Amino acid sequence: MKLRAPNRAPTLSIAMEIIEAISCPFCGQTFQIPLDTTLPSQRFTADCEICCRPLEISIQCEPGEVLSLEVQGS
Ligand SMILES: [Zn+2]
Repeated sequence: MKLRAPNRAPTLSIAMEIIEAISCPFCGQTFQIPLDTTLPSQRFTADCEICCRPLEISIQCEPGEVLSLEVQGS
Protein backbone atom coordinates (compact mmCIF):
# COMPACT_ATOMS: atom_id res chain seq x y z
CA MET A 1 0.00 0.00 0.00
CA LYS A 2 1.29 3.38 -1.01
CA LEU A 3 1.16 6.49 1.10
CA ARG A 4 0.35 9.75 -0.60
CA ALA A 5 2.86 12.45 0.09
CA PRO A 6 1.45 15.94 0.36
CA ASN A 7 2.36 17.74 -2.82
CA ARG A 8 2.15 21.41 -2.01
CA ALA A 9 4.15 24.07 -3.76
CA PRO A 10 6.30 25.99 -1.33
CA THR A 11 4.71 29.36 -0.62
CA LEU A 12 8.09 31.04 -0.88
CA SER A 13 8.03 30.60 -4.65
CA ILE A 14 5.10 33.02 -5.06
CA ALA A 15 6.27 36.37 -6.36
CA MET A 16 5.43 38.97 -3.72
CA GLU A 17 7.45 41.71 -5.34
CA ILE A 18 5.81 43.66 -8.13
CA ILE A 19 7.43 46.24 -10.39
CA GLU A 20 5.21 49.30 -10.80
CA ALA A 21 5.75 52.43 -12.85
CA ILE A 22 5.34 55.65 -10.90
CA SER A 23 5.63 59.24 -12.04
CA CYS A 24 7.61 61.78 -10.08
CA PRO A 25 5.61 64.86 -8.96
CA PHE A 26 8.76 67.02 -9.19
CA CYS A 27 10.18 66.27 -12.63
CA GLY A 28 7.23 64.42 -14.20
CA GLN A 29 9.35 61.51 -15.35
CA THR A 30 8.15 57.94 -15.00
CA PHE A 31 10.34 55.25 -13.54
CA GLN A 32 9.87 51.75 -12.20
CA ILE A 33 10.04 50.74 -8.59
CA PRO A 34 9.81 47.29 -6.96
CA LEU A 35 7.04 47.00 -4.37
CA ASP A 36 6.74 44.40 -1.66
CA THR A 37 3.09 43.25 -1.55
CA THR A 38 3.30 41.17 1.62
CA LEU A 39 1.96 44.01 3.76
CA PRO A 40 -1.62 45.27 3.07
CA SER A 41 -0.85 48.95 3.68
CA GLN A 42 2.50 50.69 3.43
CA ARG A 43 3.99 54.15 3.37
CA PHE A 44 7.64 54.73 2.60
CA THR A 45 9.99 57.15 0.94
CA ALA A 46 12.04 56.53 -2.18
CA ASP A 47 14.28 58.79 -4.22
CA CYS A 48 13.30 59.65 -7.77
CA GLU A 49 15.64 57.92 -10.20
CA ILE A 50 15.79 60.97 -12.44
CA CYS A 51 15.93 64.05 -10.16
CA CYS A 52 16.83 62.21 -6.91
CA ARG A 53 14.28 64.11 -4.84
CA PRO A 54 12.51 62.20 -2.04
CA LEU A 55 9.03 60.88 -2.81
CA GLU A 56 6.50 59.63 -0.31
CA ILE A 57 4.78 56.53 -1.61
CA SER A 58 1.61 55.01 -0.14
CA ILE A 59 0.36 51.67 -1.38
CA GLN A 60 -2.50 49.34 -0.58
CA CYS A 61 -2.00 45.76 -1.67
CA GLU A 62 -2.93 42.14 -1.53
CA PRO A 63 -0.25 39.46 -1.71
CA GLY A 64 0.97 39.53 -5.31
CA GLU A 65 -1.16 42.52 -6.36
CA VAL A 66 -1.07 46.29 -5.89
CA LEU A 67 -4.57 47.73 -5.35
CA SER A 68 -3.72 51.42 -5.17
CA LEU A 69 -0.63 53.56 -5.31
CA GLU A 70 -0.18 57.20 -4.39
CA VAL A 71 2.95 59.32 -4.85
CA GLN A 72 3.55 62.63 -3.12
CA GLY A 73 6.50 64.93 -2.97
CA SER A 74 7.68 65.26 0.62
ZN1 LIG B 1 11.95 63.30 -10.29
